[in-house]
Amino acid sequence: MSRQLIAGNWKMNGLLGPGSVLAGELAARASAGTPPGVELLVCPPTPLLYPLAVILKDSGIALGGQDCHAADGGAHTGDVSAAMLADAGCTYAIVGHSERRADHGDSDAEVKAKAEAALGAGLTPIVCVGETGEQRRAGETLSVIEAQVRGSVPDDIGAGGLVVAYEPVWAIGSGLTAKSSDVQEVHGHIRGLLKALFGPESGAAIRILYGGSVKPANAAELLAVPDVDGALVGGASLSAEDFWAIAAT
Ligand code: PEP
Repeated sequence: MSRQLIAGNWKMNGLLGPGSVLAGELAARASAGTPPGVELLVCPPTPLLYPLAVILKDSGIALGGQDCHAADGGAHTGDVSAAMLADAGCTYAIVGHSERRADHGDSDAEVKAKAEAALGAGLTPIVCVGETGEQRRAGETLSVIEAQVRGSVPDDIGAGGLVVAYEPVWAIGSGLTAKSSDVQEVHGHIRGLLKALFGPESGAAIRILYGGSVKPANAAELLAVPDVDGALVGGASLSAEDFWAIAAT
């Protein structure tokens, strides 16, 4: 299994000054040594991508976009193509985050097209899936996740690689986290699906991240869950100290 991926999703937070300071702090910590067995990724807002690419150059910390358009270019005001992310220094792109699905109506088919565009530009897509609180209470978690994975993950991932992030919607930014046993149940189900879709070896090698109020206090328990291959971290990634503490868990 490849290294654990600890990814910071800054969401719509960070101006050039404070964002550069935060990236500089992470780069300084990385120059003293990244925690063994860990790959770090930072996904800032789009205007900060290129300046952060300069700051993070040679730090070993990867850069990712928070979304991309499915098309290569054209009349899509306000959108960003996967090639533009790659051009700015990204190697990853988050697609299908629940905030995009809720705020912009991104459907599974659109998320899949975005993931395919990311692969086409040489990026590794991080495809997010997750159930709402209502769906969990109704006992629909596994069927919702299965439909999202089947609908959002590209049919052919080639050599580009893929990451799936399980983020229960009710756990994002709420301070609530899923119980370890529930996390394993969902991650195990996703793992089985990925093996069925891509074959046992490739399916086993795809990293499945957990996201939803991950912080230093709960990271050890969540990252110890067998099919958890890292974390997608929102709020806590805005503090170099907290993000590093999660990575060093
Ligand atoms: C996220 O934005 O993907 C996320 C998991 O946020 P938070 O860690 O703040 O819940």
